[in-house]
Amino acid sequence: MNFERVAVVGAGTMGNGIAHVCALAGIEVTLVDSDPAALDRGVATVDRNLQRQLSKGRISDAERIRALDRIVPATELRLAGGAGLVVEAVPEVAALKFDVFEQLDRLAPGDAILASNTSSISITAIAARTSRPGQVIGMHFMNPVPVMKLVEVIRGLRTDDATVEAVMEFSAALGKTPVEVRDFPGFVSNRVLAPMINEAVFALMEGVAEAEAIDTVMKLGMNHPMGPLALADLIGLDTCLNILEVLHGELGDDRYRPCPLLRQYVAAGWLGRKAGRGFHDYESGR
Ligand code: NAD
Repeated sequence: MNFERVAVVGAGTMGNGIAHVCALAGIEVTLVDSDPAALDRGVATVDRNLQRQLSKGRISDAERIRALDRIVPATELRLAGGAGLVVEAVPEVAALKFDVFEQLDRLAPGDAILASNTSSISITAIAARTSRPGQVIGMHFMNPVPVMKLVEVIRGLRTDDATVEAVMEFSAALGKTPVEVRDFPGFVSNRVLAPMINEAVFALMEGVAEAEAIDTVMKLGMNHPMGPLALADLIGLDTCLNILEVLHGELGDDRYRPCPLLRQYVAAGWLGRKAGRGFHDYESGR
């Protein structure tokens, strides 16, 4: 299924990337953010990233201009109402997502599909806030969206087959590889990644090896493009801790218990790259 108009709600890190790939695939996009400054930043980021693709020869200047023209910025959620598919990318706060979905359910046409880019909140719980749980689904894009190929398509308990099919097809039309997974805490991506990062932090805490050595073992020995501690620094240690808390709380299994050293780094404000320091030091250029 193809959608002529898509609305993306939230123009931050993920939302502007989602708008970017939709517009480049020829789809009209309404990009909504309640904060006008964030909306401007989101559109400017799309512009900059399209320029980068042009300079690398990946798109033509005509494609860049057309893509930018297809994005209509808006600050009011009601303007998302005309789209056949809405992709929500507001911050990872359950109450906020529930509120946005309740509003979208009232605003969007009865046959529209409502998708969330959440990394950890239950799609089944979000869907239950609407009168159309069969048409609610997860579209978990990866960061940076224009570069990363995967869309983890999350099927909630009540998601219809037709919704899954439409979103799988649409994701493929964006040039992505969609993979269907069921709605369990952390889905597949974070269910597998977060414990690996956590185990690397335990290894560091227990003095099995230094951070650099742990990362080198995983890069050269397991062919990972980045070591787990460097990846944790990139994701943000606060985000890693949040994901582990969700897995630990919802699955109730101690194998997801966040490492005390991870908690300590977050408490210290050593949140990774964005703070200049995490398991590696980014300020001294190491
Ligand atoms: P972000 O903070 O960069 O952007 C969120 C945007 O939503 C902000 O611009 C904010 O102004 C806007 N917003 C807040 N409330 C709104 C509302 N009621 N209506 C419209 N806009 C509103 O966040 P992000 O990193 O882009 O994350 C968005 C979602 O994507 C989260 O659910 C997150 O878990 C998920 N996600 C993030 C990443 C990542 O690496 N950042 C990766 C995968 C999934």
